[in-house]
Amino acid sequence: MPHIQLTDVSKSYPPSRRGGTPVAAVDGVSVSIERGEVHGVIGYSGAGKSTLVRLINGLEPVTAGSIEIDGVDITALPAGELRRVRQGIGMIFQRFNLLRSRSIRGNVAYPLEVVGMPRAERAARVDELLRFVGLEEKADAYPEQLSGGQQQRVGIARALAASPSILLADEATSALDPETTDEVLDLLARVNRELGVTIVVITHEMDVIARIAAKVAVMDRGRVVESGDTYDVFTRP
Ligand code: ADP
Ligand code: ADP
Repeated sequence: MPHIQLTDVSKSYPPSRRGGTPVAAVDGVSVSIERGEVHGVIGYSGAGKSTLVRLINGLEPVTAGSIEIDGVDITALPAGELRRVRQGIGMIFQRFNLLRSRSIRGNVAYPLEVVGMPRAERAARVDELLRFVGLEEKADAYPEQLSGGQQQRVGIARALAASPSILLADEATSALDPETTDEVLDLLARVNRELGVTIVVITHEMDVIARIAAKVAVMDRGRVVESGDTYDVFTRP
């Protein structure tokens, strides 16, 4: 059974003015992602990539189609059960989205506070996560004191806090220079290899996909126009 299975998924937004046609941000997309895979989704701006990740993360309802995670269709789940599935999904962002008013430790601890993990257990977990991303000496610093690459490593530690089986990376290296991009991609590769986390990498950069994703889906105007092994897709005439 695939870890994530999208079948004929569509998402339309209402027209911006009366009389317009709805915007089909995602249009009949089917994608199969196996457990333990790093799967890329590439396309130009406006292709529907961010909408697709929001749908996989259960942040918005689909207009049509199904999204199965471990065989469970999340489009048909009651709110409480959807919340539980979402705890198994971590997400990282282009702009890192850290809380400026909280220390690095406080940022990584945050999702664990939300789920009510006891203080001592939480402290140990935060230490372990900061060690994993190599930032234990920055625990008491604040986000603005860190470089972009370090902030994204904090984002990764926070996303992994609740031990998700899926990590969604939405343009996670697009704000970083090439060297820092490599460091973050190396860390994501370790997350995949050492923790067995399935990773979906959304990007407009071919280099990023070529470096980390074994499989890729190419999106254009809401549709998947090509998919398969990254090497085959990128070398196809
Ligand atoms: P990408 O991430 O590939 O740049 P998006 O998923 O952000 O693409 O956008 C796909 C299309 O859907 C675009 O035409 C965009 O304007 C439209 N869209 C995205 N989100 C919304 C929204 N909340 N309301 C209306 N239209 C949207
Ligand atoms: P902030 O001022 O950034 O909110 P706090 O020191 O108040 O930081 O702590 C935020 C979170 O960090 C707390 O929820 C707590 O679980 C965790 N925390 C605080 N002190 C420690 C510590 N010594 N080791 C690990 N985690 C800690």
